[in-house]
Amino acid sequence: MPTTPDSTLALKAALDVSPTNIPLRLLLADTLLVLDRIDDAEKALKDGVSRTPNDPRLSIGLAKVFLKQGKYAAGVMACEGALVREDAPAEGHLVFSKLLLRSGETERAAEAYRRAVDLDGSLAEDELAGQLATHLKPNYEDIPYGDDDFDDFDDFDGRIPVSQFDQSGESPAEIERPKINFSDVGGMEAVKEEIRLKIIYPLAHADLYKAYGKAIGGGLLLYGPPGCGKTHLARATAGEVKAGFIVVGLHDVLNMWVGNSEKHLNKLFEQARRNAPCVLFFDEVDALAASRADFRHTNARTVINQFLSELDGMTASNDGVLVLAATNAPWHMDSAFRRPGRFDRISFVPPPDAPGRAAILQLHVGSKPAGNIDFAQVAKATADHSGADLKSVVDRAVEAKLQDAMKTGVPKPLETKDLLAAAKTVKPSTREWFSDARNYALYANDGGQYDDLATYLKMK
Ligand code: ATP
Repeated sequence: MPTTPDSTLALKAALDVSPTNIPLRLLLADTLLVLDRIDDAEKALKDGVSRTPNDPRLSIGLAKVFLKQGKYAAGVMACEGALVREDAPAEGHLVFSKLLLRSGETERAAEAYRRAVDLDGSLAEDELAGQLATHLKPNYEDIPYGDDDFDDFDDFDGRIPVSQFDQSGESPAEIERPKINFSDVGGMEAVKEEIRLKIIYPLAHADLYKAYGKAIGGGLLLYGPPGCGKTHLARATAGEVKAGFIVVGLHDVLNMWVGNSEKHLNKLFEQARRNAPCVLFFDEVDALAASRADFRHTNARTVINQFLSELDGMTASNDGVLVLAATNAPWHMDSAFRRPGRFDRISFVPPPDAPGRAAILQLHVGSKPAGNIDFAQVAKATADHSGADLKSVVDRAVEAKLQDAMKTGVPKPLETKDLLAAAKTVKPSTREWFSDARNYALYANDGGQYDDLATYLKMK
C-alpha cells in the first residue's frame, strides 16, 4: 500500500471498526513511522497495548518507535518484556540489537543480532553486522579463545574490558551555555519565584547564607505532566544565572547501570563542579529509582548510593552546583532521594493557566509574520494544553500558512483564526497524567508532599 496520508486515514477507519486487530494496528504504526509521524505511531501502539497488554508484537512495535525517538533505555525495557515470550517476533531481536548497540551494550547487541538472524535469515543487515563486528573484535582478541571459536558468541562472557568512556577519560556530557532566561518561559510565575528563592538567591548571596549557617546545596525536584516546561525552565534557570547547563537524560542515567556506572556519575558531578556555577539537570530521574529491580546485571544499589553521596557533597563540595531534576512520576522515587539536603524540595509544575498560555503562545509566535493576534482568545480555547502542545499549535498554524502561501504565491501574516483552527487539531496532552496523579494526591500524600497538586486538582 502506498504510504500517503490518505492510507493512514483508511487504516484508522478500519481500526475503529476492529480495534483489536493487531496486524492492522501494526501496519498503521509502520505507515505512520514511514511518514515520520512518530508520535502518532506511538499513540496508536499505546492504544493497542492498553487493549491487548500482553501481545509482544505491540511491545516490539513500541520499541521501534522508541528507537526512532532515541529513547533507547525505554526501548530496551519494552524488548526485554516482549522477548521472554515464545511468540515474540524474530524482528524483535533485531530491534533489541539496535537499541542495545546505541545504549553501548555491544556484546548483548551482538547476541541479539545473532539470535534474530538465526531465527530469520532475511533479517541480516550488513551495516549493523559491520558495526557489531568492529566493536566486538578487540574484545575477542582480549580473551584466550582460539580463532575457530571467534564466532561462538554464546560462550563469550559478555564483559566489556574498558568502556569507551573510561578509555578517553572524557567527560560524559556536553556543557551548554543557554541563551534563554526566565523571560523566555511563559507563565510559571510561582515556580520561577520558588527557583529564585531556593536556588538563585542562595547562589548569588552564598556568603550571607553561610554567615547564617544555612547550607547551600541539595536539589530541587520538579514534577508535573509532560511537556509543561520542566526542562525548558531548568535550562532558563542556567541562563538566568549565566551558569553552565548539563542535561542528563533517562537514557544516560540508565547507561550508568552498565559497567563503570559509579565512575560515570562521579565524572558528571565533577564536571559540573569544575564548571561552577553550573546547573546539573537530571531528566526523568524516577527511572533511576523505579527501574532498579529491572536491571539484573548491574549493581543498582551502589549506583543509587553513589548518586546520593554526590548529591550530599560527600566526595567534594557542591558549591555553585545547582541540581535540578524532573519527573512525571515522583511517587515512583525511592524515599532516600527525598531526605534533607537531597531532593527535599519538590515543586509542582502545573499546566499553564490562561495568562500563561497566552504568554507561551506569544513567545512561540515570536517574530514570525503576524497580524494583531488575540492571544487571550486562543488561550481560552486551549485549556489543559501543555507548553509543548501550544508550541505545536503555533507550528501547525505556521505550516498551514506556508501551504497557503505556496498555493497562492502570497505570504500572509498569522492571525487569530489560524491559531484557533490549529488549536482544534492539537489534543491537550495533560489530562491523562492527571487521571493517574489524582490517586497519588489523594492516597499517597503523607507528609503533604503533593499538597500543591491536591490544591490544583480541587481548583479544576
Ligand atoms: P517532559 O516531562 O516530557 O520531559 P517537560 O515538562 O520537561 O516535558 P519541556 O521539554 O520543557 O517539558 O517542554 C517542551 C517544549 O514546550 C519546550 O521545549 C518549549 O518549546 C515548550 N514549552 C513548554 N513550556 C513552556 C513555557 N512555559 N514557555 C515557553 N515554552 C514552553
